[in-house]
Amino acid sequence: MPISLDDVRRQLAIANRILGNEGVIDAFGHASVRHPGNPNRYFLARSRSPLFVEPADILEFDLDSEPVRPLTVQPYGERVIHGEIYKARPDVNAVVHHHSGAVLPFCMTGVPLVPLFHLGATMGGTVPFWDQRDDFGDTNLLVIKPEEGASLARALGNNWTVLMRRHGATIAGTTLQEVVFRSINGCLNAEYQLRAMAIGTIGPLNAAEAHDAGAYNLQSRPMARAWEYWTLRLGERGIFPARKKTAAQRPARAAASRAKTKVAPRKKTAAKRGRKR
Ligand code: MN
Repeated sequence: MPISLDDVRRQLAIANRILGNEGVIDAFGHASVRHPGNPNRYFLARSRSPLFVEPADILEFDLDSEPVRPLTVQPYGERVIHGEIYKARPDVNAVVHHHSGAVLPFCMTGVPLVPLFHLGATMGGTVPFWDQRDDFGDTNLLVIKPEEGASLARALGNNWTVLMRRHGATIAGTTLQEVVFRSINGCLNAEYQLRAMAIGTIGPLNAAEAHDAGAYNLQSRPMARAWEYWTLRLGERGIFPARKKTAAQRPARAAASRAKTKVAPRKKTAAKRGRKR
């Protein structure tokens, strides 16, 4: 049975929150997924911190990163990263962009990020480095123009992770679960690499090891185990996105509306009044 678009929006909200909860993205950064029924469209949240993304925040764009419907909310400024990678890579169905502190030392120095352990291998055997100056000279370092996104997509090439000079990283995957797994374990690899370099000489996995270990992790068993772990951690913090209740699941209100009786407005708590919508 094909996945419904409601499920796509919900899964993307969960993925955003996992990435926020696991420290990959903070106020900034974003995750997208290609439309399952139309390869020329993709879904991406409105401009808000990924940790708070709701299914209702998910917007639909074409591959030029233009909104499919007129917007009443602000989109992310760097959405061309997603659109241009989907254009360049028909095999990619999900993209994450982040500024994690784990990778920034590599973005600042140009020291190559290399796969050092079995889970880190999922980020790919080769992680290219994109220097925006090569194509554009001095910029504000953001990826806003379509040609900047296209340049980044060229640097990514057929790899799965690309570092961006003094900015962050962009990660591609064939599925949403895969790109989340790759993003989190890529950041762990970067953290461990930094620590390992402080105490000794590092040696990357060789190409065969990186390929085989990376492929093993993407099988359904390890992927499901990791996804369960990350979603349980959202539940523990009470930030797993709530399912929208149907009318049938709201008996008190439904009955009240049927009887056309007035329901006293619920008092807003201080927390609710202060919450940004
Ligand atoms: Mn960015």
